[in-house]
Amino acid sequence: MDLKGKVVVVTGSANGIGASMARQLAALGSDVVVADVDESNGELVAKELGDRGRFKKLDVTSLDSWTSVLDSVAKELGGIDIVHCNAGVLTRPPSAPDPHDYFLPYMTYDGYRKVMTINVDGVVFGTLAALPHLQSRGGGKVIATSSPGGLAGWPADPYYSMSKAAVNNWIMGIAPALAEQNITINAPMPGGMINTNMFRPQWKDLPDLKAITPLEPDVIAKGIIELMQRDEGTGVVYMVTDQSQLLPILPPQQG
Ligand code: NAD
Repeated sequence: MDLKGKVVVVTGSANGIGASMARQLAALGSDVVVADVDESNGELVAKELGDRGRFKKLDVTSLDSWTSVLDSVAKELGGIDIVHCNAGVLTRPPSAPDPHDYFLPYMTYDGYRKVMTINVDGVVFGTLAALPHLQSRGGGKVIATSSPGGLAGWPADPYYSMSKAAVNNWIMGIAPALAEQNITINAPMPGGMINTNMFRPQWKDLPDLKAITPLEPDVIAKGIIELMQRDEGTGVVYMVTDQSQLLPILPPQQG
């Protein structure tokens, strides 16, 4: 797919990986919708993109919010080609001192609902809301940002790893039905820690994390852009490497 002139909605694009996606898509000539709850950074990113960008306030936990934003985008830009469900959060608040400390203090009802509504509802509602728009375009793509945490229970944040496992299973399970509508759905995961707000500044001085150089979000965005350019392949969870390459991880490869 040539991304020039394509209408792409990216959630969580006021910051981090999503903001890199927005910049790289705009550089390729896509019409980018910066969709986020963070209005101030979202407006800034959209402004950077000039004519190619616009900000829409979208809370991914609300199907009503999804529906009204996608309806207004389709009305303003004539349709939607790609929806990238990228917004995601950890359970720990930004002030948490250490990602290795015991999870029990964070094992609360509110923490659970926050992670599941943003990370899981955000992807399922995004797929539901995208469907009629992609159908009326004759096809399209849904992309959901996953995480290596979703491949195994992650003791630092079991709610988070469970939510990303759910994302992996959603895209693998729904792909055949969407394929009948000429819609692909795939889930790229960064192959390591990425230098975004999710990787808290206070963690950078911890002895074991000091040794790790987090990847820059641009590296991951480049791999995800390549996935958007592919017309073939659906229902696949990919790892995006430090070289922006796409390695298929799930479903388990034959041979
Ligand atoms: P980030 O914190 O920089 O960006 C997340 C964005 O999501 C923010 O702009 C935030 O405002 C937005 N957001 C939060 N709640 C929202 C809501 N209800 N509706 C709409 N937007 C909302 O984090 P990031 O690292 O860029 O994360 C992007 C994706 O990458 C996430 O799905 C995350 O799980 C995944 N990921 C990140 C890493 C990493 O190391 N940073 C590793 C693996 C996977």
